[in-house]
Amino acid sequence: EKSEKMNGSLRNGVTNGKNSSNGINSKTYIADNWSPSSWRTKPIKQDVNYDDKEHLKKVLTKLNHLPPMVTPEEIIKLRNQLKQVALNKAFLLQGGDCAELFDYCSQEPIESKLKVLLQMSLVLTWGARIPVVRIARMSGQYAKPRSNPFEKYQGQDIPSFRGDNVNGFDFDDRKPDPERLVSAYFHSAATLNYVRSILSSGFADLHHPSEWSLHHVRSNGTRQEYQTIVDRLTDALNFMTTIGADNPLSPISNSLNSVDLFMSHEGLILEYEQSLTRQLKDPTTGDLKWFNVGTHFLWVGDRTRQLNGAHVEYFRGIQNPIGIKVGPSMQPDELKELLDIVNPNKEIGKVTLITRYGANNVEKYLPGHIQAVKESGHVVVWACDPMHGNTKNSSSGVKTRHFNAIIEELSKAIHTHKANNSQMNGVHFELTGEGVTECVGGSMQLADADLALNYKTYCDPRLNYEQSLDVAFLIAKYYEK
Ligand code: PEP
Ligand code: MN
Repeated sequence: EKSEKMNGSLRNGVTNGKNSSNGINSKTYIADNWSPSSWRTKPIKQDVNYDDKEHLKKVLTKLNHLPPMVTPEEIIKLRNQLKQVALNKAFLLQGGDCAELFDYCSQEPIESKLKVLLQMSLVLTWGARIPVVRIARMSGQYAKPRSNPFEKYQGQDIPSFRGDNVNGFDFDDRKPDPERLVSAYFHSAATLNYVRSILSSGFADLHHPSEWSLHHVRSNGTRQEYQTIVDRLTDALNFMTTIGADNPLSPISNSLNSVDLFMSHEGLILEYEQSLTRQLKDPTTGDLKWFNVGTHFLWVGDRTRQLNGAHVEYFRGIQNPIGIKVGPSMQPDELKELLDIVNPNKEIGKVTLITRYGANNVEKYLPGHIQAVKESGHVVVWACDPMHGNTKNSSSGVKTRHFNAIIEELSKAIHTHKANNSQMNGVHFELTGEGVTECVGGSMQLADADLALNYKTYCDPRLNYEQSLDVAFLIAKYYEK
């Protein structure tokens, strides 16, 4: 802490202050030989090849000129909250679309996603009696890595849909268009603006949780369970009013009227991320540091996390809290090295490991990864993504996920952590607030044949509104004190 202040003025530009006259190692602030563009010297996976390089350049200049969407204050706030998560004092809930579309930048989809995340977090907080840190996959989750660069359309190979900030879903709009990057910025900003507005206007006010009505909930059980929580919460709030703890001037009252909700996306298109990387004052030390101001939290995908690759190079230089997707192909030693690269000072909660093995693989891979992290001395947030290792083709050939497999991966992750003297600190879901039919099972007992009813995703299958609440109840019950 002390050295941070003393060395502050030396840290301009991208040079490392290591050899500064007072000899204080300032590695904390600027990674060795790092700059927002140093990723360009490394091999890159999932790269987008733009035909019109001049156009790309113009677009990036424009992006670089646009104002930050989030501030260092907010980013540091999230980092502090994630530190609490890593120390088992809070729980992380992260969720949203697989591929967010520009089209979802509209009142209803934004409200319903917020609503389901808030309701899930209410269920979790109530059941587990632990604060919940909420991060949405939203306001920028527009780029998708693809296992196959091509897909079939009417028997022909066409380039795969890479997300709205690369190309269009329409079969004749698959050429990467740099203009989409600017569009991504404005859709992110508009989404974030509306989220901020409704949150500051009482959307999350706990005094009216019953207004978050339970549309689309078919199962009486889920409806009743939620209603019970709401009734008991209302009682508790009335009690607080009676004893005067619910005074608008009281410091706790603020947390009853509103909540923190942070934004995240996969940091995939590094040209975009670079243009939104700014050197700004760290609110705690006053030192200049590099922040990605396009979102609060960025994660690196399972396909782009190579130790010597461009993505890891970019990620190691930013102050934002980051996530790393960890699948079966991650070697324990590789994980140790990766943590040292992106978090050389071993800051607690800076890194969230988002494990996604598949229900049948958790017990095989998670113990080795837990052991590796212990040996490394890093203290991470352990989140479980029970979606990406459990994707299957339905009988009609569409991508789906079975609710039971999702629950199985979650419960195996919880138990495996426990058995290895560790704790699962969070969850990562692909979900939507709407009544889609993309994952089968859940309390509404969606069958394979029902998938056609309302299958809307442009990439991976998401939990619908009711399935999301189901999952929150199941986790809350597990942690219930
Ligand atoms: C995703 O989260 O949508 C994704 C592509 O995940 P992963 O990198 O874990 O496959
Ligand atoms: Mn996905």
